[in-house]
Amino acid sequence: MRPKYKRIILKLSGEALAGEKGFGLDEKTLDSIAAQVKEIFDLGVEVSIVVGGGNFWRGRSGKGMDRTTADYMGMLATVINALALQDALESLGVLTRVQTAIEMRQIAEPYIRRKAVRHLEKGRVVIFAAGTGNPYFSTDTTAALRAAEIEAEVILLAKKVDGVYDSDPKTNPNAQKIHELTYIDVLNRGLGVMDSTATSLCMDNKIPIVVFGLNEPENIKKVILGEKIGTLVKE
Ligand code: UDP
Repeated sequence: MRPKYKRIILKLSGEALAGEKGFGLDEKTLDSIAAQVKEIFDLGVEVSIVVGGGNFWRGRSGKGMDRTTADYMGMLATVINALALQDALESLGVLTRVQTAIEMRQIAEPYIRRKAVRHLEKGRVVIFAAGTGNPYFSTDTTAALRAAEIEAEVILLAKKVDGVYDSDPKTNPNAQKIHELTYIDVLNRGLGVMDSTATSLCMDNKIPIVVFGLNEPENIKKVILGEKIGTLVKE
């Protein structure tokens, strides 16, 4: 069982860490995700993770609030998630480093690209927190940016749904799963895979995205081993 990829970015939305509760952190879910990450780490894959923060706060939740302030709150939410994930991974014996795009040296390293790459080479999982450090961006864009910077071969976009559909599978029972898509399709058809900034960044830098569900505990491993699940977005 040889992994298809050597270095990856796993993007976990905040929602993915909240489990059924839909808000905050669910310990069981965290442990299950950590176990899945350990599995691919044990295959020799260099794993870096970008975490979202939507389980606590999103910039757009702050109606009437200054957008920049609301976005900074969102970035801080991702740090909470990163620390929780770090804890879950380390309890399984996986060495990790959290790097934040906004300095908070007492609790994590600042983001330094060369250091991040070095950690990966030394067999540590690197968790990128605080997004890009800039308001008006998303953690999906962070995943695209970090993937380009550290030369990750692919972004694994873990979602609640198991891929991209031609319409919303929650409301349309006839919705069809799309197995392969181009970046341009995603942009033109307005498919809710990633926001357009993130999609464009992946397109410009030719970073493939695999969109898949975390519903099956083996899914991260399946993607890593090259099994065709979910939706592949590429050129
Ligand atoms: N955010 C930001 N700049 C970034 C990344 C994130 O301002 O580079 C803020 C933004 O307000 C966003 C929130 O952090 O809504 C949480 O991130 P996101 O919504 O991407 O989390 P997810 O949906 O993946 O849980």
